[in-house]
Amino acid sequence: MAIQDQTLEEIKNRIDIVELISSYVDLKPAGKNYRGLCPFHDEKTPSFTVSPEKGIFHCFGCGAGGSIFNFIMKVENLSFQDAVIHLSQKAGIELPTLRRNIQNKEYRQKGKIIQLNQVVQKYYYDSLLHSEDPLARTSRQYLFQKRGIKPSSAEQFGLGYSPADGKAIIEYLYQQGFNGNDFIQAGIGNVIKKGELYDRFRGRITFALHDSNGEIVGFAGRTLLENENPKYINSSESPVFSKGNNLYGLFATKSDIRKTKTVILVEGYMDFLSLFENQITNCVASMGTALTAHQATLIRRFAEEVVICYDSDNAGRMATFRGIDILNKKGLSVKIAVLPSPYDPDTYLRKKGREAFLEILEQKKPIFDYQLELLLNEYGSKSLESQIHIIRGLLPSINAMTDSIERSLKIRSLAQYLKIPESLIYNVLKGTRESEKKVKLFKTAQKDAIHGAIKAEKILVKFLLEEPTVRSMICDQVPAEYFSVPEHRRIYQAILSNLSEEFSLSDLINVFSGDESMSSCISALGSMETECYEMNEELIQSLIKTLKRAELRRERSILASELAQQADYESKLLIGKRIEEIDKEIQGLKTCS
Ligand SMILES: [Zn+2]
Repeated sequence: MAIQDQTLEEIKNRIDIVELISSYVDLKPAGKNYRGLCPFHDEKTPSFTVSPEKGIFHCFGCGAGGSIFNFIMKVENLSFQDAVIHLSQKAGIELPTLRRNIQNKEYRQKGKIIQLNQVVQKYYYDSLLHSEDPLARTSRQYLFQKRGIKPSSAEQFGLGYSPADGKAIIEYLYQQGFNGNDFIQAGIGNVIKKGELYDRFRGRITFALHDSNGEIVGFAGRTLLENENPKYINSSESPVFSKGNNLYGLFATKSDIRKTKTVILVEGYMDFLSLFENQITNCVASMGTALTAHQATLIRRFAEEVVICYDSDNAGRMATFRGIDILNKKGLSVKIAVLPSPYDPDTYLRKKGREAFLEILEQKKPIFDYQLELLLNEYGSKSLESQIHIIRGLLPSINAMTDSIERSLKIRSLAQYLKIPESLIYNVLKGTRESEKKVKLFKTAQKDAIHGAIKAEKILVKFLLEEPTVRSMICDQVPAEYFSVPEHRRIYQAILSNLSEEFSLSDLINVFSGDESMSSCISALGSMETECYEMNEELIQSLIKTLKRAELRRERSILASELAQQADYESKLLIGKRIEEIDKEIQGLKTCS
């Protein structure tokens, strides 16, 4: 994206940031800025500021910040793209214009892959219904008879079959105006030995994978052969598809999830389709056992509570444990619906029916109860050793309870359950808290040591952002590696590649299309007070020296650990020599500043 995207610029010009945020937050003027209570965290004294001059907001309490787009993303739970559309409507800019305007190169490439995916899906779907290939017949039997999928669901969710020859589809794509390279770019075409191009899903049942807007971004393919491994494969990574970035079915269920604020999380495609066909429509599938942090963020946009309903086997339990952790970290409330062995949601629904499944959902367990049950099954509760195992296993979820009444009730019931005094549990709890505190203290000491260099990075980046006149002077002297904070480095690289352009702080925020860590870093820098630093060449040179010193120190510490591990005498000498040089350089930088 060019640094000044025309449409974003137009929207920004038409929308007054103070007016926009005022409809969510009670803002009071404070000097050049406005101040209010942050809508993103609980607070009693206002630390949320809006700068109409810079077109940004920033909260000094929780670090949230950015442009109008970031604000709408956060407050309305929207993706960057949806926030742009939302604000364009508010600004009275027609959507078709918007679509035309955001067609840059990357956008066109993505659009082409999505078009190709649509064409491929049509081909797979036709093959599933009509192909005479023997495996196609098996696919039909498997999906429509054995698993009882309705034809309407097959169409809505894009089920299909990829013919076993793996070649005819390429001919078909050529007729539709695509070439082999497009097929490879989309992550479906696979070049095998001798340079021949094949469909990677050949001979498999296919599942279209949609993003939350309903565009087909990739496919999954399930083998029909008993012994073929892996059972499932996906499109390879493409500009529109990345494994673990999407949730299966979300595009069709998101409005019901939003309404109920609750999502039922299942594992597989078949689980999802079974729930959906049984009118349990606030569900998604995580597609495989490992839920990713990205998927958890996606869930957070639509739901407050997640009910995990994974397979009853060991792998399912492990996946549940990991899922709890990932979802908890995103601030979601998690419950667990436990299926009796040996069922998964799909088999349970088909065998026992909708009512029985709803009952399982009704009896969803809080994390604590679920974990206690599993730990009791695993260790029993009789011996002192097993009691300690159980307390230790439950500590993370006890610690995570923010409600102190809930916490003491749980501790009481646990003590009664294990027939031990409550004080014992409190002691174990206190022990872990104190060791956590020690680790924290150590980390702060380390932080202080590098604090000076990071502060220098901040001031330098702030000057770069706000003083176009000093940009080329800094950029001539400072390689990007000098910035140790990844966000600073990314800002610097964006500035380097747009040196000749004029842009504001909020333009730069929009370059990172809603990336939260970037927008909050830039708005923090924009809102940082630097009045005590008078910007002049001398100050800039001294900041650059501080950065260089820090970079040299980083190099030195890497070399020092290399030196400790190196056995070869000559290499030791060489490394030692370089360390000596670095020490001299560091010394030189100190004396002349
Ligand atoms: Zn805040």
